[in-house]
Amino acid sequence: MREQIEILASLQNVDREIKDKNLAKKSLTDEIDKRENEIGQKRREVAQLKAEWNEKEKLRREKDAQFQDEGRKATDKRMRMTRIKNIRELQALQHEVDQIKMQNSLIEEELIAIMEDLETRGAALKEREAELKTLEEAWGAEKDALAAQVAEIDKQVAETASGRQTIAAQLNGDLIGRYEMIFRARGGTAVVGVTDGICQGCYMNIPPQLANEIRKNERLNLCPSCHRILYYKPAEPTDGKHA
Ligand SMILES: [Zn+2]
Repeated sequence: MREQIEILASLQNVDREIKDKNLAKKSLTDEIDKRENEIGQKRREVAQLKAEWNEKEKLRREKDAQFQDEGRKATDKRMRMTRIKNIRELQALQHEVDQIKMQNSLIEEELIAIMEDLETRGAALKEREAELKTLEEAWGAEKDALAAQVAEIDKQVAETASGRQTIAAQLNGDLIGRYEMIFRARGGTAVVGVTDGICQGCYMNIPPQLANEIRKNERLNLCPSCHRILYYKPAEPTDGKHA
């Protein structure tokens, strides 16, 4: 059993390494996701501004067409006036032309207001587009660097995992299953030493009889408090003197 637990302890070292690497990878991929979301948000903002600008521009074209159309009508009526001799008819036509002119000066005012609005929106849109472009360019380079780090971690984890298989092959299958369950449930510490009768996983006292069992190392012993796998680990000298 002593040998199995020693192998288990080295398996735990490898598993911790894999766990740490995966955590490091997670913080990198979280960062990538966060930045991508930020840029996605900016892209949507720019698209929204662009859609609003297009809507206004469509309105401008409609108003402009209306303005041109009314202008042509006024011209037509003025042309007809040159051919009419009847004074009353002439006056009626003149009145119509005046009405159109009045109407058209209102349309012109609207048109000018729309064009001013378009100009303001256009400037804001350009500014945001430039900001987005700068952001995208800066992120492009940074993202490549982060992705390379992620790929490096993946490679290291794959190597470590193949080393793990070699170690795991030397262990009893039931023991590995038990160990893995504890490893997951206990935050990456499944095998711990007992020093001076204290579990080094949860720092609770181990009953003396169990402590003796652990010293003998003949069977698998679990901590009664944290349920981790225990092995005997003598205290190291702490007074600076070396034995
Ligand atoms: Zn414990």
